[in-house]
Parts: sequence; C-alpha cells; structure tokens
Amino acid sequence: MIQLKNKSQIAIMREAGRITGEALLLAGEAIKPGVSTKHLDDIIRHHIERSGAVPSFLGYAGFPASACISVNNQVIHGIPSKNTILTEGDIVKIDVGACYKGYHGDSAKTFPVGKISRQASELVRITEECFYLGIEQIKPDARIGDIGHAVEAHAVGAGFGVVKKYVGHGVGQHLHESPDVPNYGTPGRGARICVGMTIAVEPMICIGSGDVTELSDGWTVITAEGGLSAHYEHTVALTENGVELLTKVD
Ligand code: MG
Ligand code: MG
Repeated sequence: MIQLKNKSQIAIMREAGRITGEALLLAGEAIKPGVSTKHLDDIIRHHIERSGAVPSFLGYAGFPASACISVNNQVIHGIPSKNTILTEGDIVKIDVGACYKGYHGDSAKTFPVGKISRQASELVRITEECFYLGIEQIKPDARIGDIGHAVEAHAVGAGFGVVKKYVGHGVGQHLHESPDVPNYGTPGRGARICVGMTIAVEPMICIGSGDVTELSDGWTVITAEGGLSAHYEHTVALTENGVELLTKVD
C-alpha cells in the first residue's frame, strides 16, 4: 500500500532530506585521486550522526557501511573500503540515506575523479537529464509508468542501457516503500500519482545492455558487460505546491 504523507510528515522528511543531501555534498567535495571510498563513508557517517540522524543503510539487511560507494562498472551497493582508492578518470557513485525522527531521505550522485573521458562525462550528464525528465512527469493523476518511460526514452535515445533489475521506490518511514518506480515503463500505466506521495526516482544508466550481475561479496552489483554505469537519485515529494526535491541542497 502506498503511504501518503501529510504536511507535517513532509516537513520532517525535508529535514531528513537536507541531512542526506548535505552528507552527499560533503563526500563529493572530498573526492580526488588517492582518496579511499572508506574515507568518503566516514565523512558521510560523521555528518549524519552529528545532525542527529541515523545512517539508513548501516545494518540494512546487514549492509556494513553508511553509504553505498560504487566505482566505474559497479552499478550500486558497492561496499566502501580502505583498499578501494580512487584514481584519475574514475566515476564514483555515492548513494546515501539518513533517517531523521523516523523518516528517511535517499539520494545518489555520480562524481568524476579528476578528468574523465568524454564518454563517461556524456553518461553522467544523460543520467542526470533522465532524472529531470522523469520528474517532469510527476503531477496529480499521472502514472508511475510515465516517469519510467521518460527516463528510458532519453537513455536509449542517447545510446545507453537502462538497468532494469533495480528500481526506484516509495520512501518515508521505511527506506523502501510502495510503489516501485522503474526506470522503464508505459505511459498511462502503473500506480496513480497523487499529492502526498514521496518517492525516490533513481535512474541507473550504463554503457551496454543494462544487464547486471552481483559480485561474490553479496552486495556489489556490476554491469554484465563491464561498461561504465551512472546513478542519480533524489527523494521527491509531490505537494499541493508541486514537485519538491527533498534531498537537493546544492
Ligand atoms: Mg539511494
Ligand atoms: Mg533509493
């Protein structure tokens, strides 16, 4: 069942979203060649905890860190490690969640490490554009399929693949709630969008087919053909005033 939020619930989610967005921004500012993904995770955990919130991912289904940090062909759910050192030309995806007063924020972004290839930069740009085209569809009485269709059309039109095995989702008192928000779909199909909905829209776009496989660590998802992958996510609320990006702080 889709849990709609009232104004006071969305006000709390705005705080959870702000803390989430700030943590992502701070980690992004620390990215440079030579930095470990564990260092970025430490920054995120510290910011969330000093803000009076709790890292949503830490311990979620046994996940061992506060952020998922995935490099290059890793799509999502990468485990931060002191042994994973960023190198010039990498793209790094940081996915963060913070829980404040019982409500979650969820946001991800793909960052360049130093100078990246033209193709990598195009992938990152198109993925962000997919997100914004997706959320343009969010209005009362639109359907969840409208979002996915817009995302997929833009990615495929640019020659990239859409990861279909993992999807966006409702977010609120649980990190993952109904409805699923796939990055593909048919216009006019799927759950009806209405005021009070809070969802994480999160295109995962890659070079190649979009097929993925999981590493033996039980978490890290990589592209099946080894192509680069990008991810962009915000927690989005539809209020009486329109669409609001709860996790956007920059
Ligand atoms: Mg996320
Ligand atoms: Mg999410």
